[in-house]
Amino acid sequence: MNEAIVEDVIKKIIDELTGNDSIRPSRDSDITSNSIPVELSARHVHLSEEHINELFGEPLVLEKELSQPGQFLSKQRVRLIGPKNVINNVAVLGPSRPSSQVEISLTDARFLGIEASVGQSGEIEGTPGIIMASTDSIVGLEEGVLVAGRHIHMPTSYAGKFDVRDKEMVSIHLDTERPVIMENVLVRTSDNFKLAMHIDFDEGNGSAWKSGVTGKIIKGCREV
Ligand SMILES: [Zn+2]
Repeated sequence: MNEAIVEDVIKKIIDELTGNDSIRPSRDSDITSNSIPVELSARHVHLSEEHINELFGEPLVLEKELSQPGQFLSKQRVRLIGPKNVINNVAVLGPSRPSSQVEISLTDARFLGIEASVGQSGEIEGTPGIIMASTDSIVGLEEGVLVAGRHIHMPTSYAGKFDVRDKEMVSIHLDTERPVIMENVLVRTSDNFKLAMHIDFDEGNGSAWKSGVTGKIIKGCREV
């Protein structure tokens, strides 16, 4: 083992012991290295106030804060009921949204028997519906099921450095054991974002993603 590998192993052990989140480098290291932390987005739902009430009869209860400021995993879970199968224990993310939305992978969609397609979060018009259930209630969604398109959350102040604009589509090279270039990655900028790229489980498994993987923006043949 060379020294760098030993150092890396020791750092990971220390991070684990001290509870440091080694997946996400600090803002400073992000900006100097040009690498973007890549995080896996598991299947989840966003619910409207109305549906939260119908399903749980109480507001969402925070279980864990997520990497994007203000977003959280709630203690509540739902069951997704499709024509072919059921998926239990699906995460409900908060805060509430104007419309309920179910974000699943293409593998999940096939399993459930729903013809979902890739779309950006919030664009639910014309998407298929599904049935959601809690332990004591059930809600039928007429639309809102989608396979979330891969995207990058970027603090607005980083856009210049990365040479991108809000809503720009970029290609990203992932430095995994099975390296890939992912095209059509939507850049979203906001002062409230923390730098991270989000891919789903199908994309993660397809590219041999593991914790700590980063991506780089590719424009043509030029690395930015
Ligand atoms: Zn995201």
